[in-house]
Amino acid sequence: MQTSFKSIPVRQQLPRLIRSGAVGVLSRRQAGDRAFTLLELLISIAIIAVLAGLLLPALSYAKEKARRAQCISNLKQVSLAMQEFSFDHEVYPWRLPPVDGGSQTMTQAAKSFQVMSNYLTTPELLVCPSDLRQRIDSIVLVKNTNVSYFVGIEAQEDQPNILIAGDRNIEGGRPKRNCPVAEVYNVATEFSKVEIPNAGWSKAMHRRRGNIALGDGSAHQVSAPELRDSLFGSGDDEGAFNNHILLP
Ligand SMILES: [Zn+2]
Repeated sequence: MQTSFKSIPVRQQLPRLIRSGAVGVLSRRQAGDRAFTLLELLISIAIIAVLAGLLLPALSYAKEKARRAQCISNLKQVSLAMQEFSFDHEVYPWRLPPVDGGSQTMTQAAKSFQVMSNYLTTPELLVCPSDLRQRIDSIVLVKNTNVSYFVGIEAQEDQPNILIAGDRNIEGGRPKRNCPVAEVYNVATEFSKVEIPNAGWSKAMHRRRGNIALGDGSAHQVSAPELRDSLFGSGDDEGAFNNHILLP
């Protein structure tokens, strides 16, 4: 009789296999006839378990690498959309009053993405693949809970190195600050020269790394030290480095 090993776990099959004689403690002569003894089967299972233990971390590393690449692609498209918006309106959304189609004075990060509905192809772009934020179908209805990325509301159009968006697991900033550029008060997170040395990424996403988009339309994967370099090189405010962001 042919014995199938498919679908039913081997452990559950063992008693039946032993009864049927397919697996068992065999005499030396029997062992010569049979392909597998119980001991050999157990050794095989142990070897497979060890190999799986070795391969799984590599597999999960490869998966995270793919997620990070998708996130960079998202941020690249977001930053290009912001640039296109600024070409059409002369300023970024957070510098344009709502009456003119911008998000100035609005305190939710999601609003800056909402007003770019004509520039962002899909709200999927706003969710990092390493994040558990809920995806929705319409950019117009997007809320902070559907967004993985902060908005760099300090950014002005002539600052190619300033952060305009990035993963929301950024940490080390000072909360509840004012940002005169976006005209929002008591809600921005500030990275001035006092906070920048503490800037980094929480473990919530990308294994303590993160991605950022800059004013020149580029997107990058950055470690914590690279993030700090980027904040210091933002070209903001003649040495004050008052980078302000709105977290979703
Ligand atoms: Zn991400």
